[in-house]
Amino acid sequence: MNAIGQAGPALPGCRLLEVADGVHAWVQPDGTWWINNAGCVAGGTSVLVVDTCTTERRTRAFLDAVTAAHPSRSLEFAVNTHHHGDHTYGNSLLPGSTRLIGHENMRAGLLKDTTLGSFPGFWEPTPEFGDLTLRAPELTISSGMSIHLGDRRIELLHPGYTAHTDGDVIVWIPDVRVVFTGDLLFPGHTPMIMVGSPSGAIDCLGWMASLRPAVVVPGHGEVLDAAGFAETLAEHERYYRFVLAESRRGLAEGLTPLGVARSADLSDWTHLLDPERFVLNVHAAYAELNGVPVVRSAALADAVAWLGHPIVTRV
Ligand SMILES: [Zn+2]
Repeated sequence: MNAIGQAGPALPGCRLLEVADGVHAWVQPDGTWWINNAGCVAGGTSVLVVDTCTTERRTRAFLDAVTAAHPSRSLEFAVNTHHHGDHTYGNSLLPGSTRLIGHENMRAGLLKDTTLGSFPGFWEPTPEFGDLTLRAPELTISSGMSIHLGDRRIELLHPGYTAHTDGDVIVWIPDVRVVFTGDLLFPGHTPMIMVGSPSGAIDCLGWMASLRPAVVVPGHGEVLDAAGFAETLAEHERYYRFVLAESRRGLAEGLTPLGVARSADLSDWTHLLDPERFVLNVHAAYAELNGVPVVRSAALADAVAWLGHPIVTRV
């Protein structure tokens, strides 16, 4: 893979990787909280952008690299893989003429988001967002759609159920067998399903595997080949089943989600970044097993309590 755009010393390691003909991944190390991957797909005279970034600085670096890679193509379309701010807050820096697409639940989720205007103290330090405003998709889908750029077909696919969120979309480019998974995959990191579904997160692993991709661009972490993808799928499934098993234990023992986290043996997962997500994931499992909505602020407060300090950001 060729790294054709480097963000420079201000954003060490951030680069635009050509992962297949006309398909680029914007990879941002180390992929922890608020540091996402994005990308772009070219066809004909147009480019489709996959996600934006958390801050003005990171999104400008990404879009500058996309423009440098495709100086004579227009950014005709963009898609958000889900509503979380690390993938969407930079949307307002896309050209006004770019048609922005997302799942209908993703659009609703972003319009309810208040974090950009008043960042909660669960993370420190507060990201410097820069000059950004919320921009929600103008075009929404409920199941999927295909976009034809020249002779290239790009498929936007929704699993049909809640997984990482209730509005997840993956971007599949069949001619080169590349998929952008958004946050349905977190290689090297603790997967996060705080506002999602543990059972849906497990189901979507087989759904993505059925595409048999050659290259996988996850929402955070390094780009994967087929072997790395298979390993990540297996590890994610094992992790989600561990979350569900520990949550069932906690319910049987009358524990709170924080009590589950404090009594769980996490020694199998020390190689994954962001271990505090276990607390958030148990909250999601409790909500699913009890049939109630998750309380995001309570889950994040418990993650801070488990750590003994705010969640660390490096965005
Ligand atoms: Zn996310």
